[in-house]
Amino acid sequence: MRLISRTRDELARIAPERACCRRAELAGLIGSLLRGGWPADERLELTTESAGAARRLIHLSKQVLGGAGPVAARRRERLRRTTVYAVALPTSAVRGFWEAVDRDHPPDRACCQQAFTRGAFLGAGFVADPERGYHWEVVTARPEAATRLARALSAMGLAAGTGRRRGRLLVYLKTGEDIASWLGQVGAHHALLAFENVRALREVRGRVNRRVNAETANLQKTVTASLRQLADIEALRDGPGLEALPPSLRELARLRLEHREASLAELGRLLEPPLSKSTVNHRFRRLARLARRLERQEGGRRSPSARGSPSGTTGPNPLPDRR
Ligand SMILES: [Zn+2]
Repeated sequence: MRLISRTRDELARIAPERACCRRAELAGLIGSLLRGGWPADERLELTTESAGAARRLIHLSKQVLGGAGPVAARRRERLRRTTVYAVALPTSAVRGFWEAVDRDHPPDRACCQQAFTRGAFLGAGFVADPERGYHWEVVTARPEAATRLARALSAMGLAAGTGRRRGRLLVYLKTGEDIASWLGQVGAHHALLAFENVRALREVRGRVNRRVNAETANLQKTVTASLRQLADIEALRDGPGLEALPPSLRELARLRLEHREASLAELGRLLEPPLSKSTVNHRFRRLARLARRLERQEGGRRSPSARGSPSGTTGPNPLPDRR
């Protein structure tokens, strides 16, 4: 079952006990269903594709607006088998109620904040299946409805974002943490459980991926370093020869030639006596300095003045010209 259906079904079955919360939920519901302006007609028709939302709207407006409650409710089939539920309410009663919302219930009351967001979500909310990413939103045509909703979510400790989509206003939550917290606070416990199961899996998968990436990066670093060390050692071997190196470096150079993919720590363990990774690293730096010195000597021998000169290729222990 999709998370959105599960959440909607569950929220539609919650009946707030307190009168303050019933008013808040009705305000949230109406706010998300209202269109741009107030109709000139004395009947205000609110439509929704959710049977649960229509049921809550009828029920709550009877309880809250009393005699000014619903005047008509009907079911309409539309193209592509979409069913739309329409509830007609007296425009003046709804308008009076909506305009008094801020005055009527204090925005700092937690129970009412939760109820307001529950109503807004029932009317025009969407929550994505967590497998596809974390996204929760309510779309509304009314700026004051968006502002109230964002304020209620903030009061619930959630980081609500606002935006626009095709001329309508968008209030959204973007983290798994916030969506889970909202589901819990409004009482959608089954939806929360389903959400958290997937979230836990995703987080484990994310951790494993991060670890694999880190290990791949380390391996890459080891390989790159090894290739550099091998180039240095081969230059020294082909130049003065490994025998010309001090014994401590000679042994390490031989080991590196034999174990081309070993890490510094592994090479350290192969040495007799074993050496720490940092000592091995230090010795490779010494090898690198010797290789640089050899390079400079070769470079000097290859400089235009030396090039072609017979003295450049003679002498004791001649370094081969590897151009
Ligand atoms: Zn309340």
